[in-house]
Amino acid sequence: MTIFVDMDDVLADTFGKHIAWYNRDFNQNLKRDDIISGEVYDNVPEAHKESVRQHAWTPGFFTELEPLPGSIEVMEALYHRHEVYVATAATQFPNSLKEKSIWLAKYFPFIDWQHQIMCGHKFILRGDLLIDDRTYNLEKFKGDTLLFTNPHNSTETGYKRVSNWEEIGNILLKPQYELSQI
Ligand SMILES: [Mg+2]
Repeated sequence: MTIFVDMDDVLADTFGKHIAWYNRDFNQNLKRDDIISGEVYDNVPEAHKESVRQHAWTPGFFTELEPLPGSIEVMEALYHRHEVYVATAATQFPNSLKEKSIWLAKYFPFIDWQHQIMCGHKFILRGDLLIDDRTYNLEKFKGDTLLFTNPHNSTETGYKRVSNWEEIGNILLKPQYELSQI
Protein backbone atom coordinates (compact mmCIF):
# COMPACT_ATOMS: atom_id res chain seq x y z
CA MET A 1 0.00 0.00 0.00
CA THR A 2 1.26 3.48 -0.89
CA ILE A 3 0.57 6.04 1.84
CA PHE A 4 1.23 9.78 1.69
CA VAL A 5 1.56 11.62 5.00
CA ASP A 6 1.44 15.40 5.34
CA MET A 7 3.86 17.21 7.64
CA ASP A 8 2.28 20.41 8.97
CA ASP A 9 -0.34 19.56 11.58
CA VAL A 10 -0.01 15.85 10.89
CA LEU A 11 3.60 15.00 11.76
CA ALA A 12 4.47 18.42 13.16
CA ASP A 13 2.59 20.71 15.55
CA THR A 14 2.57 23.74 13.29
CA PHE A 15 -0.62 25.14 14.79
CA GLY A 16 0.93 24.96 18.24
CA LYS A 17 4.06 26.79 17.11
CA HIS A 18 1.96 29.62 15.66
CA ILE A 19 0.33 29.96 19.07
CA ALA A 20 3.67 29.78 20.90
CA TRP A 21 5.27 32.45 18.73
CA TYR A 22 2.19 34.65 19.01
CA ASN A 23 2.25 34.38 22.79
CA ARG A 24 5.98 35.09 22.84
CA ASP A 25 5.77 38.11 20.56
CA PHE A 26 2.73 39.74 22.18
CA ASN A 27 3.04 38.44 25.75
CA GLN A 28 -0.28 36.65 25.47
CA ASN A 29 -1.61 33.40 26.90
CA LEU A 30 -3.60 32.00 24.00
CA LYS A 31 -4.20 28.24 24.25
CA ARG A 32 -5.16 25.70 21.62
CA ASP A 33 -8.32 24.88 23.54
CA ASP A 34 -9.36 28.53 23.25
CA ILE A 35 -9.58 28.12 19.48
CA ILE A 36 -12.74 26.44 18.27
CA SER A 37 -12.31 27.06 14.56
CA GLY A 38 -10.22 28.95 12.05
CA GLU A 39 -6.53 29.57 11.66
CA VAL A 40 -4.48 30.98 14.51
CA TYR A 41 -4.42 34.37 12.78
CA ASP A 42 -8.22 34.31 12.73
CA ASN A 43 -8.18 34.09 16.50
CA VAL A 44 -5.97 37.05 17.38
CA PRO A 45 -6.70 40.79 17.37
CA GLU A 46 -6.65 42.48 13.99
CA ALA A 47 -3.42 44.33 14.82
CA HIS A 48 -1.62 41.02 15.43
CA LYS A 49 -2.81 39.03 12.42
CA GLU A 50 -0.06 40.04 10.03
CA SER A 51 2.63 39.04 12.50
CA VAL A 52 1.17 35.54 12.75
CA ARG A 53 0.84 35.34 8.98
CA GLN A 54 4.56 36.06 8.69
CA HIS A 55 5.64 33.11 10.85
CA ALA A 56 5.90 30.73 7.91
CA TRP A 57 8.17 33.19 6.11
CA THR A 58 10.46 33.56 9.12
CA PRO A 59 13.69 31.53 9.13
CA GLY A 60 13.66 28.92 11.87
CA PHE A 61 9.90 28.47 12.11
CA PHE A 62 9.82 25.04 10.48
CA THR A 63 12.90 23.69 12.25
CA GLU A 64 11.45 24.62 15.65
CA LEU A 65 8.26 22.58 15.27
CA GLU A 66 7.55 19.81 17.75
CA PRO A 67 6.56 16.36 16.46
CA LEU A 68 2.98 15.50 17.34
CA PRO A 69 2.73 12.80 20.04
CA GLY A 70 3.12 9.28 18.72
CA SER A 71 3.96 10.38 15.19
CA ILE A 72 7.52 9.07 15.24
CA GLU A 73 6.68 5.64 16.63
CA VAL A 74 3.65 4.98 14.43
CA MET A 75 5.36 6.34 11.32
CA GLU A 76 8.33 4.06 11.87
CA ALA A 77 6.04 1.04 12.18
CA LEU A 78 4.07 2.08 9.09
CA TYR A 79 7.25 2.80 7.17
CA HIS A 80 8.46 -0.75 7.58
CA ARG A 81 5.12 -2.23 6.59
CA HIS A 82 4.02 -0.06 3.67
CA GLU A 83 5.36 2.27 0.99
CA VAL A 84 5.18 5.48 3.01
CA TYR A 85 6.00 8.94 1.69
CA VAL A 86 6.00 12.27 3.46
CA ALA A 87 4.17 14.67 1.13
CA THR A 88 4.44 18.28 2.18
CA ALA A 89 3.88 21.61 0.49
CA ALA A 90 7.31 23.16 0.63
CA THR A 91 7.46 25.50 -2.32
CA GLN A 92 4.99 28.06 -0.93
CA PHE A 93 7.50 29.19 1.68
CA PRO A 94 10.98 28.83 0.17
CA ASN A 95 12.81 28.60 3.50
CA SER A 96 10.55 25.73 4.52
CA LEU A 97 11.99 23.35 1.95
CA LYS A 98 15.44 23.21 3.52
CA GLU A 99 14.07 23.48 7.05
CA LYS A 100 11.68 20.58 6.52
CA SER A 101 14.58 18.43 5.29
CA ILE A 102 16.55 19.29 8.42
CA TRP A 103 13.52 18.62 10.63
CA LEU A 104 12.81 15.23 9.08
CA ALA A 105 16.45 14.18 9.45
CA LYS A 106 16.29 15.12 13.13
CA TYR A 107 13.02 13.45 14.11
CA PHE A 108 12.37 10.90 11.35
CA PRO A 109 15.87 9.75 10.32
CA PHE A 110 14.48 6.44 9.03
CA ILE A 111 12.69 8.26 6.17
CA ASP A 112 15.20 8.45 3.35
CA TRP A 113 15.24 11.26 0.81
CA GLN A 114 13.51 9.12 -1.79
CA HIS A 115 10.45 9.06 0.43
CA GLN A 116 10.29 12.82 1.00
CA ILE A 117 8.07 14.63 -1.49
CA MET A 118 8.49 18.38 -1.10
CA CYS A 119 5.82 19.65 -3.41
CA GLY A 120 3.23 22.19 -4.42
CA HIS A 121 -0.11 20.69 -5.39
CA LYS A 122 -0.77 17.22 -4.01
CA PHE A 123 -3.42 16.19 -6.51
CA ILE A 124 -0.67 14.85 -8.76
CA LEU A 125 0.07 12.15 -6.19
CA ARG A 126 -1.19 8.66 -7.00
CA GLY A 127 -1.50 6.15 -4.23
CA ASP A 128 -3.83 4.36 -1.85
CA LEU A 129 -4.14 6.76 1.07
CA LEU A 130 -3.47 10.41 1.91
CA ILE A 131 -3.40 11.61 5.52
CA ASP A 132 -3.71 15.39 5.63
CA ASP A 133 -5.33 18.18 7.65
CA ARG A 134 -6.41 20.21 4.61
CA THR A 135 -9.57 19.17 2.83
CA TYR A 136 -8.43 20.96 -0.33
CA ASN A 137 -5.73 18.29 -0.56
CA LEU A 138 -8.02 15.38 0.31
CA GLU A 139 -10.88 16.30 -1.99
CA LYS A 140 -8.77 15.94 -5.14
CA PHE A 141 -6.96 12.77 -4.09
CA LYS A 142 -8.09 9.67 -5.96
CA GLY A 143 -7.45 7.16 -3.18
CA ASP A 144 -8.70 6.88 0.40
CA THR A 145 -8.26 9.77 2.80
CA LEU A 146 -7.97 10.49 6.49
CA LEU A 147 -8.55 14.04 7.75
CA PHE A 148 -6.28 14.83 10.70
CA THR A 149 -8.38 16.91 13.05
CA ASN A 150 -7.21 20.45 13.77
CA PRO A 151 -9.07 23.55 14.96
CA HIS A 152 -8.85 25.01 11.47
CA ASN A 153 -10.82 22.08 9.97
CA SER A 154 -13.31 21.62 12.81
CA THR A 155 -16.30 22.60 10.66
CA GLU A 156 -15.44 20.30 7.74
CA THR A 157 -17.73 17.34 7.20
CA GLY A 158 -17.73 14.35 4.90
CA TYR A 159 -14.31 12.95 5.75
CA LYS A 160 -13.15 10.09 7.91
CA ARG A 161 -11.27 11.80 10.75
CA VAL A 162 -8.39 10.91 13.01
CA SER A 163 -7.45 13.03 16.01
CA ASN A 164 -4.06 11.62 16.91
CA TRP A 165 -1.44 9.07 15.93
CA GLU A 166 -2.78 6.42 18.26
CA GLU A 167 -5.94 6.36 16.14
CA ILE A 168 -3.90 6.13 12.94
CA GLY A 169 -1.97 3.21 14.38
CA ASN A 170 -5.18 1.49 15.41
CA ILE A 171 -6.50 1.77 11.86
CA LEU A 172 -3.40 1.09 9.79
CA LEU A 173 -1.32 -1.26 11.92
CA LYS A 174 -3.99 -3.85 12.49
CA PRO A 175 -2.93 -7.11 10.81
CA GLN A 176 -6.30 -7.45 9.13
CA TYR A 177 -6.32 -3.89 7.83
CA GLU A 178 -7.97 -3.41 4.49
CA LEU A 179 -8.59 -0.18 2.63
CA SER A 180 -12.31 -0.80 2.65
CA GLN A 181 -12.31 -0.43 6.44
CA ILE A 182 -11.52 3.27 6.22
MG1 LIG B 1 -0.85 20.09 6.82
